[in-house]
Amino acid sequence: MTRGHLFVISAPSGTGKTSLVKALIEKDPTIMLSISTTTREPRAGEVDGKDYFFVKKEDFDKQKDNDEFLEWAFVYGNFYGTSASLVNASINQGKKVLLEIDWQGAFQIKEKYSKNQLTLIFIVPPSLEHLKKRLQERGQDKNNVVLERLALAEEEMEKSTDFDYIIMNDDFDSAVRELHQIVNRSI
Ligand code: 5GP
Repeated sequence: MTRGHLFVISAPSGTGKTSLVKALIEKDPTIMLSISTTTREPRAGEVDGKDYFFVKKEDFDKQKDNDEFLEWAFVYGNFYGTSASLVNASINQGKKVLLEIDWQGAFQIKEKYSKNQLTLIFIVPPSLEHLKKRLQERGQDKNNVVLERLALAEEEMEKSTDFDYIIMNDDFDSAVRELHQIVNRSI
């Protein structure tokens, strides 16, 4: 059976991970982006089934209890999980699948897939000052949430040493190029 490859991208909130992933997929449309399930409320402009599957906590728990998640975690006050069936179907079809998930999820995935089938990538900001500015400019979250996420970012960055690659998102275009090269090198 043809087997695909799984790419996990993790980063502290505000590092520009979502924009990087979007640009990568424009460069390589054969990459399938896994859509996670979350108990978080949708932000303005987010679409159910496109950005996330937005569910109530009881539905999340049901899916969790039925072992429907490949991994799940509690991140910044909400639950997030990756659907096992969607990912495994794509992998079994030989596709490249990308998971944009936090480090806790990345570590769970690491336990389940062999090294030659999985690449773990961590994105870091040039500095915590940059990160603070980005989080504030993004204007998505209230100031106390920004400060909370900033405090967590330091902790999260310590986990980066367990990833296969670390990319610094200083210059956006070079970060996209680096990401694209890693994807091409890994398959
Ligand atoms: P946000 O709410 O800002 O979209 O995402 C918050 C954090 O949750 C990000 O670090 C994101 O990567 C992570 N996340 C999103 N989906 C999943 C998932 O399915 N599993 C895990 N473990 N983390 C996720």
